[in-house]
Amino acid sequence: MRWSKIFIPTLRDDPADAEAVSHKLMLRAGLVRQLAAGIYSKLPLGLRAARKVETIIREEMVRIGGQEFHLPVIHPGDLWKESGRWQQIGDEMFRLKDRRQGDYCLGMTHEEVFTAIARDELRSYRQLPQIWFQIQTKLRDEARPKSGVLRGREFTMKDSYSFDSDFAGLDVAFDRHAEAYRRIFERCGLRAIAVQASSGAMGGSESVEFMSVSEAGEDWTVFCSRCDYAANLEKAVSVASRPDDPKEVPAVEKFPTPGVRTIDELSRFDAQAKPERQVKTLVYVVEDVPTLFLLRGDHELNEVKVAEATGTTTFRAATPEECRKALGALPGSLGAVGVKDVPVYADDALKGRRGMVTGANEDDFHVRNVDVARDLPQVKWASLRNVIGGDACPKCGNPLELKKTIELGHIFKLGLRYSESMKLRVLNEQGKEVPVVMGSYGIGVERLVAAVIEAYHDEDGIAWPWSVAPLEVVVTPVSIKDEAAMKKAEEIYEKLAAEGYEVVLDDRDERPGVKFKDADLVGFPLRVVPGPRSLEKGMVELVERATKVKSEVPLDRLYDEIRERIARLKAAPVR
Ligand code: ATP
Ligand code: MG
Repeated sequence: MRWSKIFIPTLRDDPADAEAVSHKLMLRAGLVRQLAAGIYSKLPLGLRAARKVETIIREEMVRIGGQEFHLPVIHPGDLWKESGRWQQIGDEMFRLKDRRQGDYCLGMTHEEVFTAIARDELRSYRQLPQIWFQIQTKLRDEARPKSGVLRGREFTMKDSYSFDSDFAGLDVAFDRHAEAYRRIFERCGLRAIAVQASSGAMGGSESVEFMSVSEAGEDWTVFCSRCDYAANLEKAVSVASRPDDPKEVPAVEKFPTPGVRTIDELSRFDAQAKPERQVKTLVYVVEDVPTLFLLRGDHELNEVKVAEATGTTTFRAATPEECRKALGALPGSLGAVGVKDVPVYADDALKGRRGMVTGANEDDFHVRNVDVARDLPQVKWASLRNVIGGDACPKCGNPLELKKTIELGHIFKLGLRYSESMKLRVLNEQGKEVPVVMGSYGIGVERLVAAVIEAYHDEDGIAWPWSVAPLEVVVTPVSIKDEAAMKKAEEIYEKLAAEGYEVVLDDRDERPGVKFKDADLVGFPLRVVPGPRSLEKGMVELVERATKVKSEVPLDRLYDEIRERIARLKAAPVR
């Protein structure tokens, strides 16, 4: 390939509307262009990087016995009505009608279609297990398409589905996927951390997310640096620090707090009422029922845990008027002491606490001396709060850390969620019909490319790991007008291309500074520079993109040296 012929529209400056580094660099290095919010065209280099990732994924899926399919992007609505997700999923699903007014949707995932195929084709336990996968476009009308391809509305996913005749089989398929995922991310140069996750709308039991630590991430992951505990903040639990409470407290006492509405205001108003000494009272309407959620003043409510505690995802924060109707006061003066006819959930960090302050259910009044066991006997206990940095690890007690992460992949044990609703059954050994046990497993291709860039870049551009680099080597003659240098460059280029490397000859009539800048931006792992001064000495310059280390190599050792370098670059440790 000659640079003058391939299409690499690099940009000198950062695009104004891009924030994440990978987003900026994918635009600047000419990998992608935006068509609409969250919808991107891949240009030749972007496609090459994506294909590299897809090849790695495909090889590892085949290695665990996966068989590749390719399913439609447009699905009949009826299939999604059978599983119940037509009704369950909201605005994230693109829906449309055909000319006969039939309901259709664009596939945001493919459980329904794969289950329908399995239902039509699988009859007996003897045909199991199966692992079916595809690498296919997904469409999701994300609320906040963000950070370029990290969260697109159209993206490519490797999705796979396992079918087993029992739960032990599912465990095996799940573990195989976890191994395949570890290898995939490692081959892409990333250290992915497996974390326990909430399984959200997919339903099912166990679910593990693979996370890459990055500032561009939208997920918070809780880590223990001593043991292996790691969990998505949505699901993480911890042992909260325990302030010293008085051994005994007198009866609850009401006191005026004029104009005090927030936890902070109360702690400033009353020096005794530090945030960790307050009971924060939040009111939600849970399936039409006003419900109280109590937390320590310095803790935040986690809505995923609310869903787990209440067993429903149908809830919203109550309006001030609804609060007044249920409790007799507006937010800022609410509490649960003496509340009878309203369900109350309390976060377990409040268990056994004494000497607490909370709202009196009368505007501008609070109560003190609250002994949770004595004064709030009606509460249902649950884990409701977000972990905060410094809380103790639930496994080993070490202080926990929070880090921003990108979710690269997600594996779910679906269990019988789809086989029951869509009636996917096979005959077991005894000739009895049993539902098939399923798992589903996803990796976002473009997100993985962007995550690689997040981990592999510097101020000059992308510094690709060998395995994902859209092109591997660039040969940069300093000037195309220097005949001897150009001849050598052509020779090196031909030879490396003949050895099977993906090599580009920068044959543009540009100043060397411009060529080097572009090469650094696009990020070829290795640059070969036959410069006139080196050539005079019988040498050629090699530059490794990642380290920027330059070295002169004698011409007679050039190809051996290049092969050795490449072997080293291929074996570089993951990030
Ligand atoms: P997120 O929490 O980031 O929205 P998700 O839980 O919706 O992800 P899954 O439905 O489990 O994601 O999809 C599997 C994989 O597909 C994710 O791990 C991610 O790599 C990728 N993915 C999901 N949504 C997007 C998106 N909007 N843009 C790019 N990749 C995505
Ligand atoms: Mg999502």
